[in-house]
Amino acid sequence: MERETLEFDVVFVGGGPANLSGAFHLAQLVKKHNAAVESGEVKGASLGEIEIAVIEKGASVGAHILSGAVMDPKGLRELIPDFVEQGAPLEAPVKEDHFLYLTRTRAIRSPITPPPLMNHGYFIVSLNRLTAWLGEKCEEVGVNVFPEFPGADMLYDEADRVIGVRTGDKGIDKEGKRKANYEPGVDLHAKVTVLGEGPRGSLAKQLVQRLNLDEGREPQVYSIGVKELWELPDDRYPAGRVTHTLGFPSDSNTYGGGWAYGMQNRILNIGYVTGLDYQDPLLDPHAEFQRFKQHPFLAKLLEGGKMIRYGAKTIAAGGYFAMPKLYADGVLLVGDCAGFLNSQRLKGIHSAIKSGMLAAETIFAALLAGDYSALQLKQYEERVNTSWIMPELRKVRNFHAAFQRGRWLGIANAGLQFLTGGRSWGLFDRTRATAGHEEMKKLSRYGYRGDALEQRYRDLRFDGKTTFNKLTDVYHAAVGHDEDQPAHLHVLDTNICSTRCAEEYGNPCQRFCPAAVYEMVDSGNGERRLQINFSNCVHCKTCDIMDPYQIINWVTPEGGGGPDYKGM
Ligand SMILES: Cc1cc2nc3c(=O)[nH]c(=O)nc-3n(C[C@H](O)[C@H](O)[C@H](O)COP(=O)(O)OP(=O)(O)OC[C@H]3O[C@@H](n4cnc5c(N)ncnc54)[C@H](O)[C@@H]3O)c2cc1C
Repeated sequence: MERETLEFDVVFVGGGPANLSGAFHLAQLVKKHNAAVESGEVKGASLGEIEIAVIEKGASVGAHILSGAVMDPKGLRELIPDFVEQGAPLEAPVKEDHFLYLTRTRAIRSPITPPPLMNHGYFIVSLNRLTAWLGEKCEEVGVNVFPEFPGADMLYDEADRVIGVRTGDKGIDKEGKRKANYEPGVDLHAKVTVLGEGPRGSLAKQLVQRLNLDEGREPQVYSIGVKELWELPDDRYPAGRVTHTLGFPSDSNTYGGGWAYGMQNRILNIGYVTGLDYQDPLLDPHAEFQRFKQHPFLAKLLEGGKMIRYGAKTIAAGGYFAMPKLYADGVLLVGDCAGFLNSQRLKGIHSAIKSGMLAAETIFAALLAGDYSALQLKQYEERVNTSWIMPELRKVRNFHAAFQRGRWLGIANAGLQFLTGGRSWGLFDRTRATAGHEEMKKLSRYGYRGDALEQRYRDLRFDGKTTFNKLTDVYHAAVGHDEDQPAHLHVLDTNICSTRCAEEYGNPCQRFCPAAVYEMVDSGNGERRLQINFSNCVHCKTCDIMDPYQIINWVTPEGGGGPDYKGM
């Protein structure tokens, strides 16, 4: 089989804020350098034409981007100082911050907003739109942006140095045979490959395992955010108003919280985050979000409104202690893929942008030196350590771990961090040494008996007005995958599903997946078997993270497949 090879100087895998900022910044650094050499301002050689590519698995740049999103503008301001004048799509500056503690029936307003949740000077954005805009900025400075190109495999030389990435094949049918439109993936060779795949990157997972980049680090822990956009009938929730909630519907052992952000044109953006280190095997993050909307505060807000968009995505919440080594020969990791998110503030856009910029500065130095070895690229880690990113992450280094001891200790620790600078004297940090899926208890250990499965969400009704079942919600994520292709969710041993997993956990994949991808069905001979409805997949990666046996491997489907998060 003939496989084409294309030569680039730098390939960025993933068209998110981190990589687009990196590609844009690098193109500008090169342009400035070459102009300075030409004018005699700088001595040395011009770098000439530097070929930079960004590949993105979504059908367009931004299609797979889902976020809250209240953006701390400090990253974007460094990248494009006049971003407002240049027309960056911003929904509204934050005008009001509210913090509510929800009991089952009441919303208790906190007289003060906790400092990490104060967003004065920040912007509410649609990250989908902002990312698409960054993609255009990249093209303006000569970056090659390729949507519909999933990075399927890393390419290494004989010394395990990264030499690029292979994109996914197109036109393979569900039996694995070539269709008439078959096109083999392309080998994109690069001096440096930058992985900015967002949380739980499928290539980053391969790379980290192969090169032991997580040696001596704590396992990454994740959360899942489930979100909807609503059209409201009136101005009851103005653009620029931000509300965060704690409490209902999570129990005090489960990490969770909600948000409501006012966007332009009476659009309300609401969502609920559940920590993917929950213990209850019957918990369903999508159902938790539906229950959140049933709270009187939310129900009143949504009355007479119409749900127009849905989406779900994971968040890398482990922070400082869970970050892998950020570089190896020929490769760098940026953004959520490397765990740069501040989980206390639920903010990662600013640090994703900054990490992309620092990667660009490192690559620029490597291009000048003509050296792409780990020794040279180590400068990236040094740049990160001396930037504003690390002090920010250090201060909240035990935030999520403390919540693994329950809500009240988590809150106490979050408050204490201001006095202690993030220290917890070993009280909390040790507990995070387990990965989230290891926290899930077996049904019997959690105390479930008999018809527990039916009982867990017995109060939840999908009324089609305020609450929706997964399939209705998935419809509003505008997901599209060619059904005649191999499933991109590889379950390595399906026997476990109908035997051990059914008995021990009651097949939790049916619940933790927010898109009804996994279904236990009657196999016809009185037994149950797993059916994978992969075309529903919203690419959130929860299954890869939360499966208790770690036998689900999420790989990229054919390019362009997946959700279309317009305006999210
Ligand atoms: C529900 C939710 C709420 C959030 N709220 C906020 C908030 O209010 N404020 C804030 O600052 N941050 C928030 N965040 C975090 C913020 O969205 C992230 O920190 C930020 O988007 C990270 O940017 P990134 O470029 O690293 O990754 P991403 O934004 O995840 O982008 C990665 C891109 O890479 C693509 N990709 C992945 N794998 C491949 C591959 N193999 N080949 C090709 N393309 C690939 C993806 O399709 C995607 O387009 C929130 C996140 C979530 C999920």
